[in-house]
Amino acid sequence: MKIAIDIDGVLLDIIVRYCEIYNKRYGTKYQKKDITNWEFFKDWNITEEKAFNIFYEIYADSMNVPFIDENAPKIMKKLHELYDVDIVSARLPEYRSSIVNKLNFHNVREGIQYTELILLHHKPYDIKLKQNYDLYIDDNPNLVEPMKQLKNRILLLYDQPWNQDSVCDKNVYRVYDWNEVYKEILEK
Ligand SMILES: [Mg+2]
Repeated sequence: MKIAIDIDGVLLDIIVRYCEIYNKRYGTKYQKKDITNWEFFKDWNITEEKAFNIFYEIYADSMNVPFIDENAPKIMKKLHELYDVDIVSARLPEYRSSIVNKLNFHNVREGIQYTELILLHHKPYDIKLKQNYDLYIDDNPNLVEPMKQLKNRILLLYDQPWNQDSVCDKNVYRVYDWNEVYKEILEK
């Protein structure tokens, strides 16, 4: 089985850092729980370009981004021993060394927790499904409905404020932490 693990929203809580930077710059008080929409910036009166510039800043310097679940590295190691595990992210390729350093810092290492780090563009929003993985661990609500059209593939939707409207049925399962990720995969 080939498994694709996302970074942002699954391993790293990028949106926490995003809110910190945004609030400082624009005098707002947003928190992670306020981000209930994938395109949250459309409600914030900034252009998509400005919104993404903050993401790029964080891609360039990820060290202040919180890690989501300290159990993830040991669970990824077990999964990597059993299956083909890649990390597949929409971070831009030019920030590869920054994210590799950050992942290494949290003991998520090539050859131990994963085989390959694959970086794709973030649009179209379901671009990851064009890659041939059997199982995806991802927080992106835009993957949910397209995934339901695909046979023999599974999405573990990592629970986040921005995917609460997604209906998880058929081949889509909601997971709340990395222990649940492991349990769900062993049951498949
Ligand atoms: Mg993500």
